[in-house]
Order: sequence, then structure tokens, then C-alpha cells
Amino acid sequence: MDLSPAAHTPLHPQQRCGQDLPSQRGYPLGFYVSSWRLGLGGISSRGACRPGFYKASSLDPYCMKCPPHSYSHQEGSSQCTCEKSYFRAETDPRAMPCTRPPTAPENPISTTNETSITLEWSPPRDSGGRNDITYDVHCKKCAGDPRECSLCGSVLHFIPRQFGLTYTKVLVTNLLPHTNYTFDLEALNGVSELSPSPNQYISINVTTSQAVNVILKERKSKDSITLAWQGPDHANGLIVEYEVIYYEKNQKDQNYTVLKTKSNSMTVDGLKPGTTYVFRVRARTSGGHGTYGGEIELETSQEDMLAIGDPNQPTIMAVSVAGGIVLLIFLVTCFVVSGRHCGYIKAKQDPDEEKLQFHHGQVRLPGSRTYVHPHTYEDPNQAVRDFAKEIDASCIRIERVIGAGEFGEVCSGRLKLPGKREIYVAIKSLKAGYSEKQRRDFLSEASIMGQFDNPNIIHLEGVVTKCKPVMIITEYMENGSLDSFLRKRDGQFTVIQLVGMLRGIASGMKYLSDMNYIHRDLAARNILVNSNFVCKVSDFGLSRVLEDDPEAAYTTRGGKIPIRWTAPEAIAYRKFTSASDVWSYGIVMWEVMSYGERPYWEMSNQDVIKAIDEGYRLPAPMDCPAVLHQLMLDCWQKARGDRPKFGQIVNILDKLIRNPSCLKTLANDAAWSGNSLQDPCTPDSSTITTVDEWLDGIKMGQYKENFASAGYATLDTVVYINSSDLCRIGVTLVGHQKRILWSIQNLHTMASQMHGTHIQV
Ligand code: AMP
Repeated sequence: MDLSPAAHTPLHPQQRCGQDLPSQRGYPLGFYVSSWRLGLGGISSRGACRPGFYKASSLDPYCMKCPPHSYSHQEGSSQCTCEKSYFRAETDPRAMPCTRPPTAPENPISTTNETSITLEWSPPRDSGGRNDITYDVHCKKCAGDPRECSLCGSVLHFIPRQFGLTYTKVLVTNLLPHTNYTFDLEALNGVSELSPSPNQYISINVTTSQAVNVILKERKSKDSITLAWQGPDHANGLIVEYEVIYYEKNQKDQNYTVLKTKSNSMTVDGLKPGTTYVFRVRARTSGGHGTYGGEIELETSQEDMLAIGDPNQPTIMAVSVAGGIVLLIFLVTCFVVSGRHCGYIKAKQDPDEEKLQFHHGQVRLPGSRTYVHPHTYEDPNQAVRDFAKEIDASCIRIERVIGAGEFGEVCSGRLKLPGKREIYVAIKSLKAGYSEKQRRDFLSEASIMGQFDNPNIIHLEGVVTKCKPVMIITEYMENGSLDSFLRKRDGQFTVIQLVGMLRGIASGMKYLSDMNYIHRDLAARNILVNSNFVCKVSDFGLSRVLEDDPEAAYTTRGGKIPIRWTAPEAIAYRKFTSASDVWSYGIVMWEVMSYGERPYWEMSNQDVIKAIDEGYRLPAPMDCPAVLHQLMLDCWQKARGDRPKFGQIVNILDKLIRNPSCLKTLANDAAWSGNSLQDPCTPDSSTITTVDEWLDGIKMGQYKENFASAGYATLDTVVYINSSDLCRIGVTLVGHQKRILWSIQNLHTMASQMHGTHIQV
């Protein structure tokens, strides 16, 4: 049997049809099965091997045909020469096809956790004909400008290692905070070093967050509190000053005070006795502001009984937001406590200390506990000025239209601010002829977005309000919205990659819920995906749920709500809370795990409401790990108090990412439990009688001809189809294979459950 090159070239792992050939590391699939059968003969009249054949040893009885991607032009060759760009490794047998280096790894995804990063990717589309692929990770550190990149050096820790990775995942720790890193992922195989061409790689850009300060000790009296802290472990530049922000816990008017100091400690006085205050600290370095540390609650004493320096009094309050930073003992020196000054809050400590006091609705407090609703402003334009940077229109270059928003076109383009490098941006513009209300509503999205600062929330660059058209400029998300992104890449990600995406969304939602922001329209269509497959929550307009979302439908109470994504209490009596966002998050999980399937398929909104009320829940998507479906079901608890919080969801997903073995048990078996909805992947068996109807029912109608011409004429002939058969008849997309096979499996189950159906198994 002759082996065509196509028969030798392993397919992309996710397209590989029927892995039934034995293989050995490094050698192409099928090599052992077939090499001895390679074309024998090829002997010329003079007894030597003809061109195109070879004989490794004169003792060999036969001439062998040159293996794929090799040739011999001479008679009597003892081996064949590899074609251009193909190679034979030293240890490769002569009968083995020549192979080439792999293409670059694909679908890289990064999960950043403060100063560590998990990188994951898919194997290269073309393995080069070998299966001894390994991966190397190269790291560059960039200080803003790509021209200022340098190699990362040996300070980083790569787990399990940096070079020669055999799995498609690596954990990188010890990164500097608030720093841009570029990781180049390179795939290699046994012939990479023989190729003169550079190895193919794919880059992932990541930015770490600034390690936050650690508050170590505090002292308090009736009207003052002394704090001391340790700077970030790895500041990204010289520390210029610290900012301490505090407010009275449970206060109604939400006054904040921001104090600045160059020192590592501060006494805040003028406080009310017996009152709890919440403090947060952040550092400002030459590289910019870090993020605020966690909230520290401290209560002033009822009586002024504290002797300053009394060793029995200090309460050690150690809060490490950077996570796992070892606390050092920091000695607090004595401070003079001044009395209260007529209710005016005063801070003393450092002559350089500055103090600012802000009132609700008038200042941006990054990382602070609550967001300010633009409607609380008498003048909504003031909200835009407070939260969004005005950008000069001349800095923006519009390049192409990428979408349509409620208020006008969405374009991509570039933003070049003076002194900064050019970046890609998305530009939303307000179409001409707008009313004042439309302008306000349009810009409200910027006022809201501008208050957020989180890697999983779409970042606002600024607004153009001083000339027309009015524009909102955000970071550009190369892969667009998550629902269409997943539909285009059906079946192409590993479960871990999907969990990585879900983790990012949950982390963004945790941030929003910590800021008391309720999204109300969380859905895959409102998540954007960048080139590194980082998912970011978007769509913050005030009117969006009412007007913008095509999924929103009027409820009996007159509200317009995206029914399939919305918790029952929010549909019934508009009880929107972070817990109702958690319900929507469960639906997003389902969308992600089913690669953008429409929740509840073609059921009507009314039927969805009724089914949910009766206790039905979406079944697990195909190949969905049981733990993930369980998490979805938890998010869909009827009692909203029983649903997990976003923080818990992030923790659960983190654990799964660290222990991927927990994802091995699939939920599919449970999909036919009484508490799941009928899935369209197995249409009602009492109504299907033909293969065409069945394929239409599972939305695979495009393969009708393939089935018919392969001889699958009746339903009873399809039930033994396997993935190799599907490949053979032309169903090569793994997602489609999975859908068909899953449906066949369910046809089996149903047939054995229901007697007298049309399906004879
Ligand atoms: P929106 O008005 O926010 O719903 O945006 C409409 C469409 O424009 C979205 O569905 C995306 O396809 C696209 N889009 C919006 N913002 C961005 C962005 N920052 N980057 C890339 N595409 C975007």
C-alpha cells in the first residue's frame, strides 16, 4: 500500500479522526503500521534501486519506496533525501516520512493573579508530522514602550519549567507588579533545530497589578487612629507617596477622606469616639498609582484611655491584599494625638501630608467600595467630567466599522495621546440628530465605566464631548463579543481554557459587586474578548437593558428584560441584585460551555418562565464537567440567598484550574435526569422518522447529503456511527462531531427507555 502524504500528516489534535493507529513519540501516526508495507520492488534492470526507491543495506532483499516528503533522484540510493523544508532527525528511521517544525501554538489565554500568571494554549494546528512536540516560553518585560523591552532574566519562576514543556500550560510567578510582560510561546519538535527558519511562536501580552500595601499595626484612642504600613514588595518605581482613604462605616452620606503622606505611617485624628472607620492604603510610584489595599475596619475607643506607646494596646491588624505576603513587624513610633476640632476631621503627621475630603458623587475612588450612579448628579455632564478623561479628537484615527450600538456605529481605530504609545481602541459615536436625553444616556456609559479599574472590565480611555460626533473611546477587544467568538470556534478550546474565560468573567463581576454595581444584563453577548482571549465585562449604559438589548422583552409588569438570562425574582418583581447577576452568570457559564448555544434554544420566553418556575433547569452542555454544571445549578437556586457569591465562584474556579483532574467527570449522564429540559440535540423521538429530520432537529442539516451519500438512509443505521465514520463522511469539525455523537448517544438512551419508538437499536 502506498501512503500518500495526506495519510501521514496528523491532523490538528482537535480535528483528528479516529485515533486508532499506534504511535510512538516523535513518529508520525501510522508509521509503524505502514512502513513495512511501503512500495516494494523498484529494482532497475541493473539490480539497483530505481529513483524514488532506496535500500538501506545491500543485504536488504527489497528496495523501499521513499517515504513521504523525501526523494531519491539517483539509482542505487541507500536513503532518500528530504524535500525542501522537511527534515529527518538523527534518530528517525530512514523509512519514516520526513517531517518539519510545527506551526505556532494557538489560542493562548492568560489568567493573571496579582503577580503570578497562568498561561495556557492549544497545540499547533500543524504538528509538522510528528508527535514529540514540546513548548518553550520566552519572556520580555516592557516598561510601557515596546522599544524598551528587556529579557525577564532568571527572577521569574516557571512551574513546572520554562523550556521543554510537554503540557500546554505553565504557571509563572514572581512577576513585578504593574508591569507589562510579553510571553512568546514557541512549539518545537524533533526537527526544529534542523530548520534554518526561526521557530514559530505566538505572543501573549499581560499586565500585572500593583502589589498592595500591608497594614501592620494600628493604635487608637477616643478620637484618633494611627496606622502604619509596609510598602509593596516590588514597587514598579520609586514610591512617591501613599494615599490613605477612609470613611465612617455605615455612614449615610458617604463622605470619604483622602490623605496623602510620604511616610509609612499616619495618625488620623478628629474622629468620633466609639465609631468604626474603614481605611484603605495605596502607594503612588513613579510608575503610577497602585491598587488600594483591602479594607481595614478600626473602631475608636469609647474613652480616651490609651496611653500612647502602651504595649498592651496595639491591635495587630494584618491585612495582606497582595495575598500571601509575609508580614513584617513594623514598630509604630509615638504620635501626638490632638483633640477634636469642632467636628472637622484633621490629619497630622507629615508636613507634606495633603488632605482632601470628598462627598458622594463628586470624586472617583479607584477600588473603593461603591460606584456612583450618574443619576445622583444634578448635572450629568459633571459626572462625565469627573469620571471620564476628555480626549482631543485629533488624537483619534478611525479605521473601520466593527459593530452597531444603540446610539450609532462602533468603529475600531487608534489613539495616540501625547507622550504615550499608540494603542488600538474601539470608538462608539453618537449619531447626529440626538436629543439631550440621548446624549446623556450615551455618555452615562462612560461615567459608569470610568469608575472601574479592573483587568476583567472593559477599560475606558476617555470621551470626546467638545466636538461632534460625541465619542466614547475604550480599549479594543480584537475578538469581539464572546457569544459570536465561541460560535466561530466551536469545540476548539480545552476545558481549562473555557474555565479560564469563566474565571475572568467571574472576577470582573466580583469587582462590580464589591462596588455595589448591579449589571442586570450579564450575557455572553455583553462580554468582550481580546486577542489573548481575556474576557471583559462590558455594556454599562443606563438604558441598555431597556432599549439596546435585542434579547430584552417586555414583561407583564411593563419592564423590558432579557428573560433567558434573568433571575425569576428580577422578572417577577424587578428585584435586581448581585444575586440576580449570579443567576445570569450561571447562564453565561452555560453559553460558554456550549460554545454559544442559545439558552433554552427555541423555547418561547413564556415557556422559559414557566419551566423555570416549575423547577426545570438547563441540562449540562455536551462534554461539560459535572462540577461546572453543578455550579450553574447553584447559580440557578430559586432562593437568591442560596446562590454563591461572585467571590466564591472565583475561588471555586481557581481551585478547578489548579486541579484540572476535578474536571474529568462529565455531567452528560445527568442531562437526562428529571430536572433537565429536553435538549434539541435529541429531538422528540416520537416525531422523528428520518435521518434528515433528525439532522434538522439537531441543527446539523448541512450534513444531510453527506449522510445520504454514505448510505445512512434510515435512523437505525446511524446509531453505531463513531467519530472515524463521521470524519470519513466529511463531518470534520470536532464541535459538530460531538453534537452528532452526543445526540446518537441520547437516541440510544431514549430508545432503551421508551418502547415502541421508531428507533430500532
Ligand atoms: P455595544 O453598543 O457596546 O453593544 O457594541 C456593539 C458591538 O460593537 C459589540 O457587539 C461588539 O461587536 C462591538 N464592540 C463594542 N465595543 C467593542 C470593543 N471595545 N472592542 C471590540 N468590539 C467592540
